[in-house]
Amino acid sequence: MSGNQCICLNQTCEYKDSLVTAAERGHDECVNKLCEKLDRLKMTTLYKEAYYTLAFITAAKCGHVKSMETLLDYGADIYYRNVDVDDPILAASEEGHAESIALLLTNRRFDLEELSSAFLAATKGGHVKVMQILLDHGATVNCTCLDIAIAEGHVQALKLLLSEQHYSLNKLNHGLWTAVEKGDVDVVQILLQSKADPNFSHSDKNVLIHAIDREGNHDMRLIDILLRFGASVNKPGKIPNTYGYSWSIPDYKQPWKNQSNIIQLVMCLLVNGADIRKINIVGSLSPNIPLTIAIRAIQLDERAENFDANRLYDLLNLLSVAGGQHIVFQVRDNYPKTWRHVEKLFPNSDTDLPKTVPMLVDCCRPIIRAHLMTGFNNNLIQAVSKLELPRSMMKFLLMDLDVPGITIPRSTPE
Ligand SMILES: [Zn+2]
Repeated sequence: MSGNQCICLNQTCEYKDSLVTAAERGHDECVNKLCEKLDRLKMTTLYKEAYYTLAFITAAKCGHVKSMETLLDYGADIYYRNVDVDDPILAASEEGHAESIALLLTNRRFDLEELSSAFLAATKGGHVKVMQILLDHGATVNCTCLDIAIAEGHVQALKLLLSEQHYSLNKLNHGLWTAVEKGDVDVVQILLQSKADPNFSHSDKNVLIHAIDREGNHDMRLIDILLRFGASVNKPGKIPNTYGYSWSIPDYKQPWKNQSNIIQLVMCLLVNGADIRKINIVGSLSPNIPLTIAIRAIQLDERAENFDANRLYDLLNLLSVAGGQHIVFQVRDNYPKTWRHVEKLFPNSDTDLPKTVPMLVDCCRPIIRAHLMTGFNNNLIQAVSKLELPRSMMKFLLMDLDVPGITIPRSTPE
């Protein structure tokens, strides 16, 4: 830009304002020219210095390093502090202007408190480069930093903090809780990698229940990560009869944000070994536990806009594997209305399900297989082996999985 043309220089208002405006805009050339003009004016040095200083603070806050240098040359007071103006290092840290910070640090000394406050401000903004510079100059990390990085979801800042400081397990666990509450998948993953406990209980829930109980808006990535790091689906919560998988299908009268998630979630919990004999996935005791899941899934899914019959079919398949084929009979015998829905949805499927169970198992083989490859699940295999499938089917199901300790039962027919 041409310095002669710029509005900064043509302003009729006071030099102080013009200079501050130019410093704010980062018009280095204008700052230079205004300083020259101001320098020639008949005015006490004290006033001039006050103008330079005010503009310097503004330039620091906005990250205009060249203007900062010019203003320092003309006599800006780098040590100036006043409650009415921003603290330059704090303001620059908040905004993440690493070059401003470097210039400030080169030209004056800061005490530990100033550096650490600036570090906190940089953490709040997630400005990792600034955080690193401040650390190199002796800033210390306090406990609040971790809370702030988690609350703001600053992944890189969090990584830096964790590499700099040892945090207690309790601190990490509460951080995990906050991240789960926020549904912040990346932060959850980092905290778990830093050994936060995936089975941590806070208030009346454990982390997994907490992740699941999100008004129907389950983020499967969050649940997947918790399970991958060892969250137990069968871990009891502090409320009696609640487990890691409780509440995955709350009252079906509740509005659901994403219905298709429910089936995905239930399937995921089943293949991860949810013990559906202890308590149902709905969260209340019932003699017909797995059945309730299927019925609710059907009831919920029917009304969903994005209804996907294939998913429901997959769910029924999986339930029949995890809980035995009697589940399917129970639906048929006790819930004729629901069963009619099933028949309507799958007109080609044989209603005489004992004949079709092997076919069902075959359908869900890829799901079982995928989970076996990532994490061996004993409950599921045992459930499968109880199904009395033809030997050929069992072979097919467990084929080339190389799962130690699993043998095809002798009693199974050929
Ligand atoms: Zn200008």
